[in-house]
Amino acid sequence: MTAGNNKRKTLISGIQPSGQIHLGNWVGALKNWVRLQDDPNFECSFFVADYHSLSGDYDPQGKRCQIIETMTELLAVGLDPGKCTLFCQSDVPEHTELCWIFNTLTPLSFLERMTQFKDKSGQQDKNINLGLLDYPVLQAADILIHHGQAVPVGRDQVQHVELTRDIARFYNRKYGVDYFPEPEPYLTDTPKLRSLTDPLKKMSKSLGEKSYVALADAPEVILKKIKGAVSETEGRTTLSEKELDKLLSKLPEERGLDEETLRGQAGVWNLIGLLRLFGHEGEAQAILDSQPIRYGELKPLLAERIAERFADFRKRKRELEADPDRVLKIFAAGGERARETARKTMEDVRRTIGIR
Ligand code: AMP
Repeated sequence: MTAGNNKRKTLISGIQPSGQIHLGNWVGALKNWVRLQDDPNFECSFFVADYHSLSGDYDPQGKRCQIIETMTELLAVGLDPGKCTLFCQSDVPEHTELCWIFNTLTPLSFLERMTQFKDKSGQQDKNINLGLLDYPVLQAADILIHHGQAVPVGRDQVQHVELTRDIARFYNRKYGVDYFPEPEPYLTDTPKLRSLTDPLKKMSKSLGEKSYVALADAPEVILKKIKGAVSETEGRTTLSEKELDKLLSKLPEERGLDEETLRGQAGVWNLIGLLRLFGHEGEAQAILDSQPIRYGELKPLLAERIAERFADFRKRKRELEADPDRVLKIFAAGGERARETARKTMEDVRRTIGIR
């Protein structure tokens, strides 16, 4: 993880321990994480972002269990401590220390316009805390404390990686150094998965259990959730995927189509997109070609394919759950390694900013 000691790029990303890992996380980010740990061009670190998760509404009684479950699921999905560094954010307190320094460099207006801040403020309007606003600054510290150059995330996080680039530039300029790199986001082919219950929103734990499929869901649960997915009632794709994306990138008043139509189209394309990812060769195309789409055929097929794809994951998760000490030891060892780099960065930063 040390910067500059070899030619490999430093790659880092995190996930909040706020419930089970879902298909959105996997499609948008984790699929890449598992692949990139084998790529000789990268030195990879992945972490459980427990401090980040405190900015959402949560139950302190259950947080430790969620942290251990996320660690377990990261191993079950195929991340290998022999190939990447796995750690828990709160084991490396230098992340929050650097966040403070970055707070002094970040204009408030940049944070107020972040989409995630606006979305989450709407979802938890009785708990619009400062952590919610400061989230992307901590994220910048998470990345830059390890001199991260590549950040594999879903599309929802690209704005935050761009802010990280700004903060790196602000720091380098203010202190007259060339110290922090400007990291690049790494997207998968499907960087955003939509909610099953409201396909105009991204799939997210915060929209409730029916809105997402967890990787650990049993086959019958997957079937129930997919059967309940909102989609176009006539079974027709009246817009192409491109047209849909283009319309959804516009302001609601400029789209020229009502929200229900768009929601239906987003829903049907979400299901087709999932079948493209998890189905066998040609299955998604065959369904698309035989419009009107028979949901009675598409939904059970899709549910079966998702269940098949994550059968090994479910088995590995059960095995790891039987040995939580093993999981904790892997993350403790990764935390030690991550901390070495983080300590060194903070020593450099304290000197550069003039407090040492
Ligand atoms: P979080 O659960 O917010 O910590 O997200 C962990 C990773 O999953 C981040 O890289 C997100 O960009 C990605 N992610 C979360 N939800 C989705 C989604 N619906 N579609 C694609 N990527 C997602």
